[in-house]
Amino acid sequence: MTASATSTARLLIVGPQGSGKGTQGVRIAAAYDIPVVSTGDIFRANIKEGTPLGKQVTAILDAGDLVSDELTGALVRDRLSQPDAASGFLLDGYPRNAAQVSDLDGFLGEQGAALDAVILLDVPREESIARLTLRATEQGRTDDTPEAIAHRLDIYEAQTAPILDAYGARGIVDTIDGVGSLDEITERIFAALALRGLVRTAAV
Ligand code: ADP
Repeated sequence: MTASATSTARLLIVGPQGSGKGTQGVRIAAAYDIPVVSTGDIFRANIKEGTPLGKQVTAILDAGDLVSDELTGALVRDRLSQPDAASGFLLDGYPRNAAQVSDLDGFLGEQGAALDAVILLDVPREESIARLTLRATEQGRTDDTPEAIAHRLDIYEAQTAPILDAYGARGIVDTIDGVGSLDEITERIFAALALRGLVRTAAV
């Protein structure tokens, strides 16, 4: 790569709760030198800090429901407009329904941009539940109760999985087997992105 080479990577990672999106997302973002934009993390940080936004969404997160498309969309728009996201980003947790896909298309389209790749971490539901149950004891997330977990997985299957059809029609979905060691899964993702000509800027 020459010194003048510029690369962008506008990526989305999708997968059921417990698929390892968060962990893999951080690794991918480091390798491509792009920020992770995780809507769940943004909401949780606001709840922790007791901001007005946090107060507004606490009960919604605890129930495992989705925050409104308007509120979430405005938040993402604002975050993606910051300078560090100008040459790429990795979205985690957004978009997660059809309306959010069209909001994101609209926003990126205004800049003549589009997603380069959608990484689907494929994990069976039983495996997701097992991992989330473990995480509940380790991290104590208030939405990792059995009821909220089941509800979030139902929403994923009903609303989020179908967005992959839209992205699949654009030829940008890479389905990655999400069962294996963390390093194996990272390598699978890197290999798929390399096949798309997406250039890593940092050695990770
Ligand atoms: P998980 O994938 O384990 O459900 P996330 O951290 O992605 O966890 O999201 C946690 C919660 O934050 C969701 O259950 C929902 O309440 C809210 N949230 C995150 N992203 C979105 C989104 N794109 N639209 C609406 N609500 C969202």
